[in-house]
Amino acid sequence: MKIDLSGIPLIDNHAHPFPAGRAAASEYERHFTLSRAQKDPVYVQNTLIFQMLNRKLRRFLGLPDDCAIEKVIEARNEREKQGRKKYIDDLWKDAGYLGMIADVGSPVTKNLLTKEELAEFEHDMEGHFMYKVNRLEWVAEDVIEAGTYSFEEFTALYEKGVRDMVEKNHLVGLKSIIAYKTGLEVKVRSEKKFKEYYYLYLSDPSNREYEKAFRDYCFCKGCEIAASLDIPLQIHTALGDSPLLNLHKCNPALLYDAINAYPDTKFMLIHAGYPYCEEFGFLIAHYDNVFGDFSSMVPFASIAGRTKIKSILELAPANKVMFGTDSGSIPEQFWYGAHLFREYLTEILQELVDKDYISYSFAMESAENIMYKNVKRLYKVE
Ligand SMILES: [Zn+2]
Repeated sequence: MKIDLSGIPLIDNHAHPFPAGRAAASEYERHFTLSRAQKDPVYVQNTLIFQMLNRKLRRFLGLPDDCAIEKVIEARNEREKQGRKKYIDDLWKDAGYLGMIADVGSPVTKNLLTKEELAEFEHDMEGHFMYKVNRLEWVAEDVIEAGTYSFEEFTALYEKGVRDMVEKNHLVGLKSIIAYKTGLEVKVRSEKKFKEYYYLYLSDPSNREYEKAFRDYCFCKGCEIAASLDIPLQIHTALGDSPLLNLHKCNPALLYDAINAYPDTKFMLIHAGYPYCEEFGFLIAHYDNVFGDFSSMVPFASIAGRTKIKSILELAPANKVMFGTDSGSIPEQFWYGAHLFREYLTEILQELVDKDYISYSFAMESAENIMYKNVKRLYKVE
């Protein structure tokens, strides 16, 4: 039987606000790479993702297949100028993209969104699905910057800060970027050991060993808070913004200690673990409290989704993994991520049905789960 997913909508497990001003401040090629170290746009122009997205965009905008990239930029800028919200709505409708769980604590450089930018985002999201998460690390850093506290005072202020952030901003989850900071190999220590390290860290914040123990402590507390609030903790794994990210510290398998120490915390591992996709699928399969999404890999790793979504599904249950894009600068990223994901998932499910490994009804039920139902269930939102 033919697998047709065209009528099933998509909800994005992880993406970001995309204020017009920030997008306009960067050159067009920047929207196709996560790297901050890469300077020459000619390299980006020669990537598959740049070619693939702009090929489809030419058709969406009614331009000839072979027109120059400058014409594409001109045409999409003109559509934005005529009405940005309408352009977003048109793109997303075309892709069956309903909306997102938005990480509003971006970017990783902490050049955070202003009140005005967040208001603009909320306006753009009118009529779309949107719920928010925000980051543990910013709360911890704000407490450290506010004064010198005892270990007990720090712990109380940090915990109150996280709980207040969730309540006041109606967050449906928390997020950690410890992968960027000191890596995913969180060492779970006794309270006494963490306390010793806390004072060592205060005495020398530039010492990497002390900083790591301090951040591991904040992460562990974050796991406890997320469990007590019964909300998921999104955790950055996998690829990200160079040079701020050391890929070797981002393999999700490094979370072994933390996952075993906090069985009541819902670990939402993001970005498909790419390129460590099999490790990612393994963790999701082996622990009831571990979930995952395909964001960033789709669309930024171009054709990877064709094989890697399947690699993850080798082990991961279809009711624990979900669509995502990690988009956050131009609306075309969300649009193309949705198209690409639907195409890849259709191919994978079709192959499994054709080989008679799974039934048509299991394929369609899994598609609905992966495309939007798992997100609604996990975050308990409608
Ligand atoms: Zn992200």
